[in-house]
Amino acid sequence: MADRSPTRPLPNLSELDTAEFWRGTQANEFRYQQCANCDTIVWHPRAHCTGCVNGDLEWRVSAGAGVVYTFSVVRQSYHPFFRSQVPYIVALVDLDEGPRFLTNITGTTPEEMDVGMRVQIVWEEHEEVHIPLAKPM
Ligand SMILES: [Zn+2]
Repeated sequence: MADRSPTRPLPNLSELDTAEFWRGTQANEFRYQQCANCDTIVWHPRAHCTGCVNGDLEWRVSAGAGVVYTFSVVRQSYHPFFRSQVPYIVALVDLDEGPRFLTNITGTTPEEMDVGMRVQIVWEEHEEVHIPLAKPM
């Protein structure tokens, strides 16, 4: 009998701007872009620099460490997967290289969370994609 547990909604892997990012996750690499013209760090992935609109963006790989910029605790959700996870932590994490990304914090409790906490990326592995989560260091 098939497992009917709700599963995390996964990204569209053929979306042009983000496909390279999701390919990198299969190797547990968090890839981001940097402008070859003005050095602006670009996140999330896109076709043009957010600093100067140049289209020459180069891919970089984060070492996977950063700090919690802000967070919230979700205690109610209507989505079957997320309802099965409550209470869970949603955070904006600033990677040391510059990208600020939205993720879930694992391996801790809402009471232990703090802004500025050091975290590292941990990977939730799915068949075609790995999802970058973060846990306290
Ligand atoms: Zn630029």
